[in-house]
Amino acid sequence: MGICKPIVGELTADEMLTALPLCTQELAFAEEIYALTKGLELPLKSKLRTFSPFLDETGQLRVGGSILQAPVDYSTKHPILLPADQLATRRILWYYHTRKLHIKSERLLTELRTRYWIITGRDVVKSVVNPCWPCKRRSSKPVPPLMASLPVHRLTPYRPPFTYTGVDYFGSLTVRIGGRGCRHEKRWVCLFTCLTTRAVHIEVSDGLSLEEFMLCFT
Ligand SMILES: [Zn+2]
Repeated sequence: MGICKPIVGELTADEMLTALPLCTQELAFAEEIYALTKGLELPLKSKLRTFSPFLDETGQLRVGGSILQAPVDYSTKHPILLPADQLATRRILWYYHTRKLHIKSERLLTELRTRYWIITGRDVVKSVVNPCWPCKRRSSKPVPPLMASLPVHRLTPYRPPFTYTGVDYFGSLTVRIGGRGCRHEKRWVCLFTCLTTRAVHIEVSDGLSLEEFMLCFT
């Protein structure tokens, strides 16, 4: 087998996806490639024995398998073998994960198996996808804050309503003033809520100043 050339300069995605498996296979499966080139049996301790691997015309190690008659693509019948513990494998996984808009691990594994067979693939895919921040952010759930104990005025009945009252503002809202030649102005809503009955009373306010609030309050 030829020695893998260093990857330099700008490579297109297709060139990278062809060069990386060749390089990583030569690093991880050197014994198996040597045995297949010489027509020898694979080493007994080799992880690839169950895959009946063979070398294609470009020198890539592919799965042999028993679905030769299946009506599917050549690369699906004979996916390229990739080792689990190589940086190139992780790069390929990351490339597909981001290109397919951050798909989940099981889906990514299924998509990849039409082209690559990664040894212990499920674990490797999880180790690439699980630390991905965009995926973490998308799947995370908000944690509701722990509420403090309610104040005594919320728990004790008082008469009449609005003996104890909460106040808040919301807005601004744009309102139309006048008929013909009308103008638009901002208004705010002052909201009073009874702490005992939760009844609500609202007043329209012209502004956010103390004077405007006192008018609403009165
Ligand atoms: Zn992701």
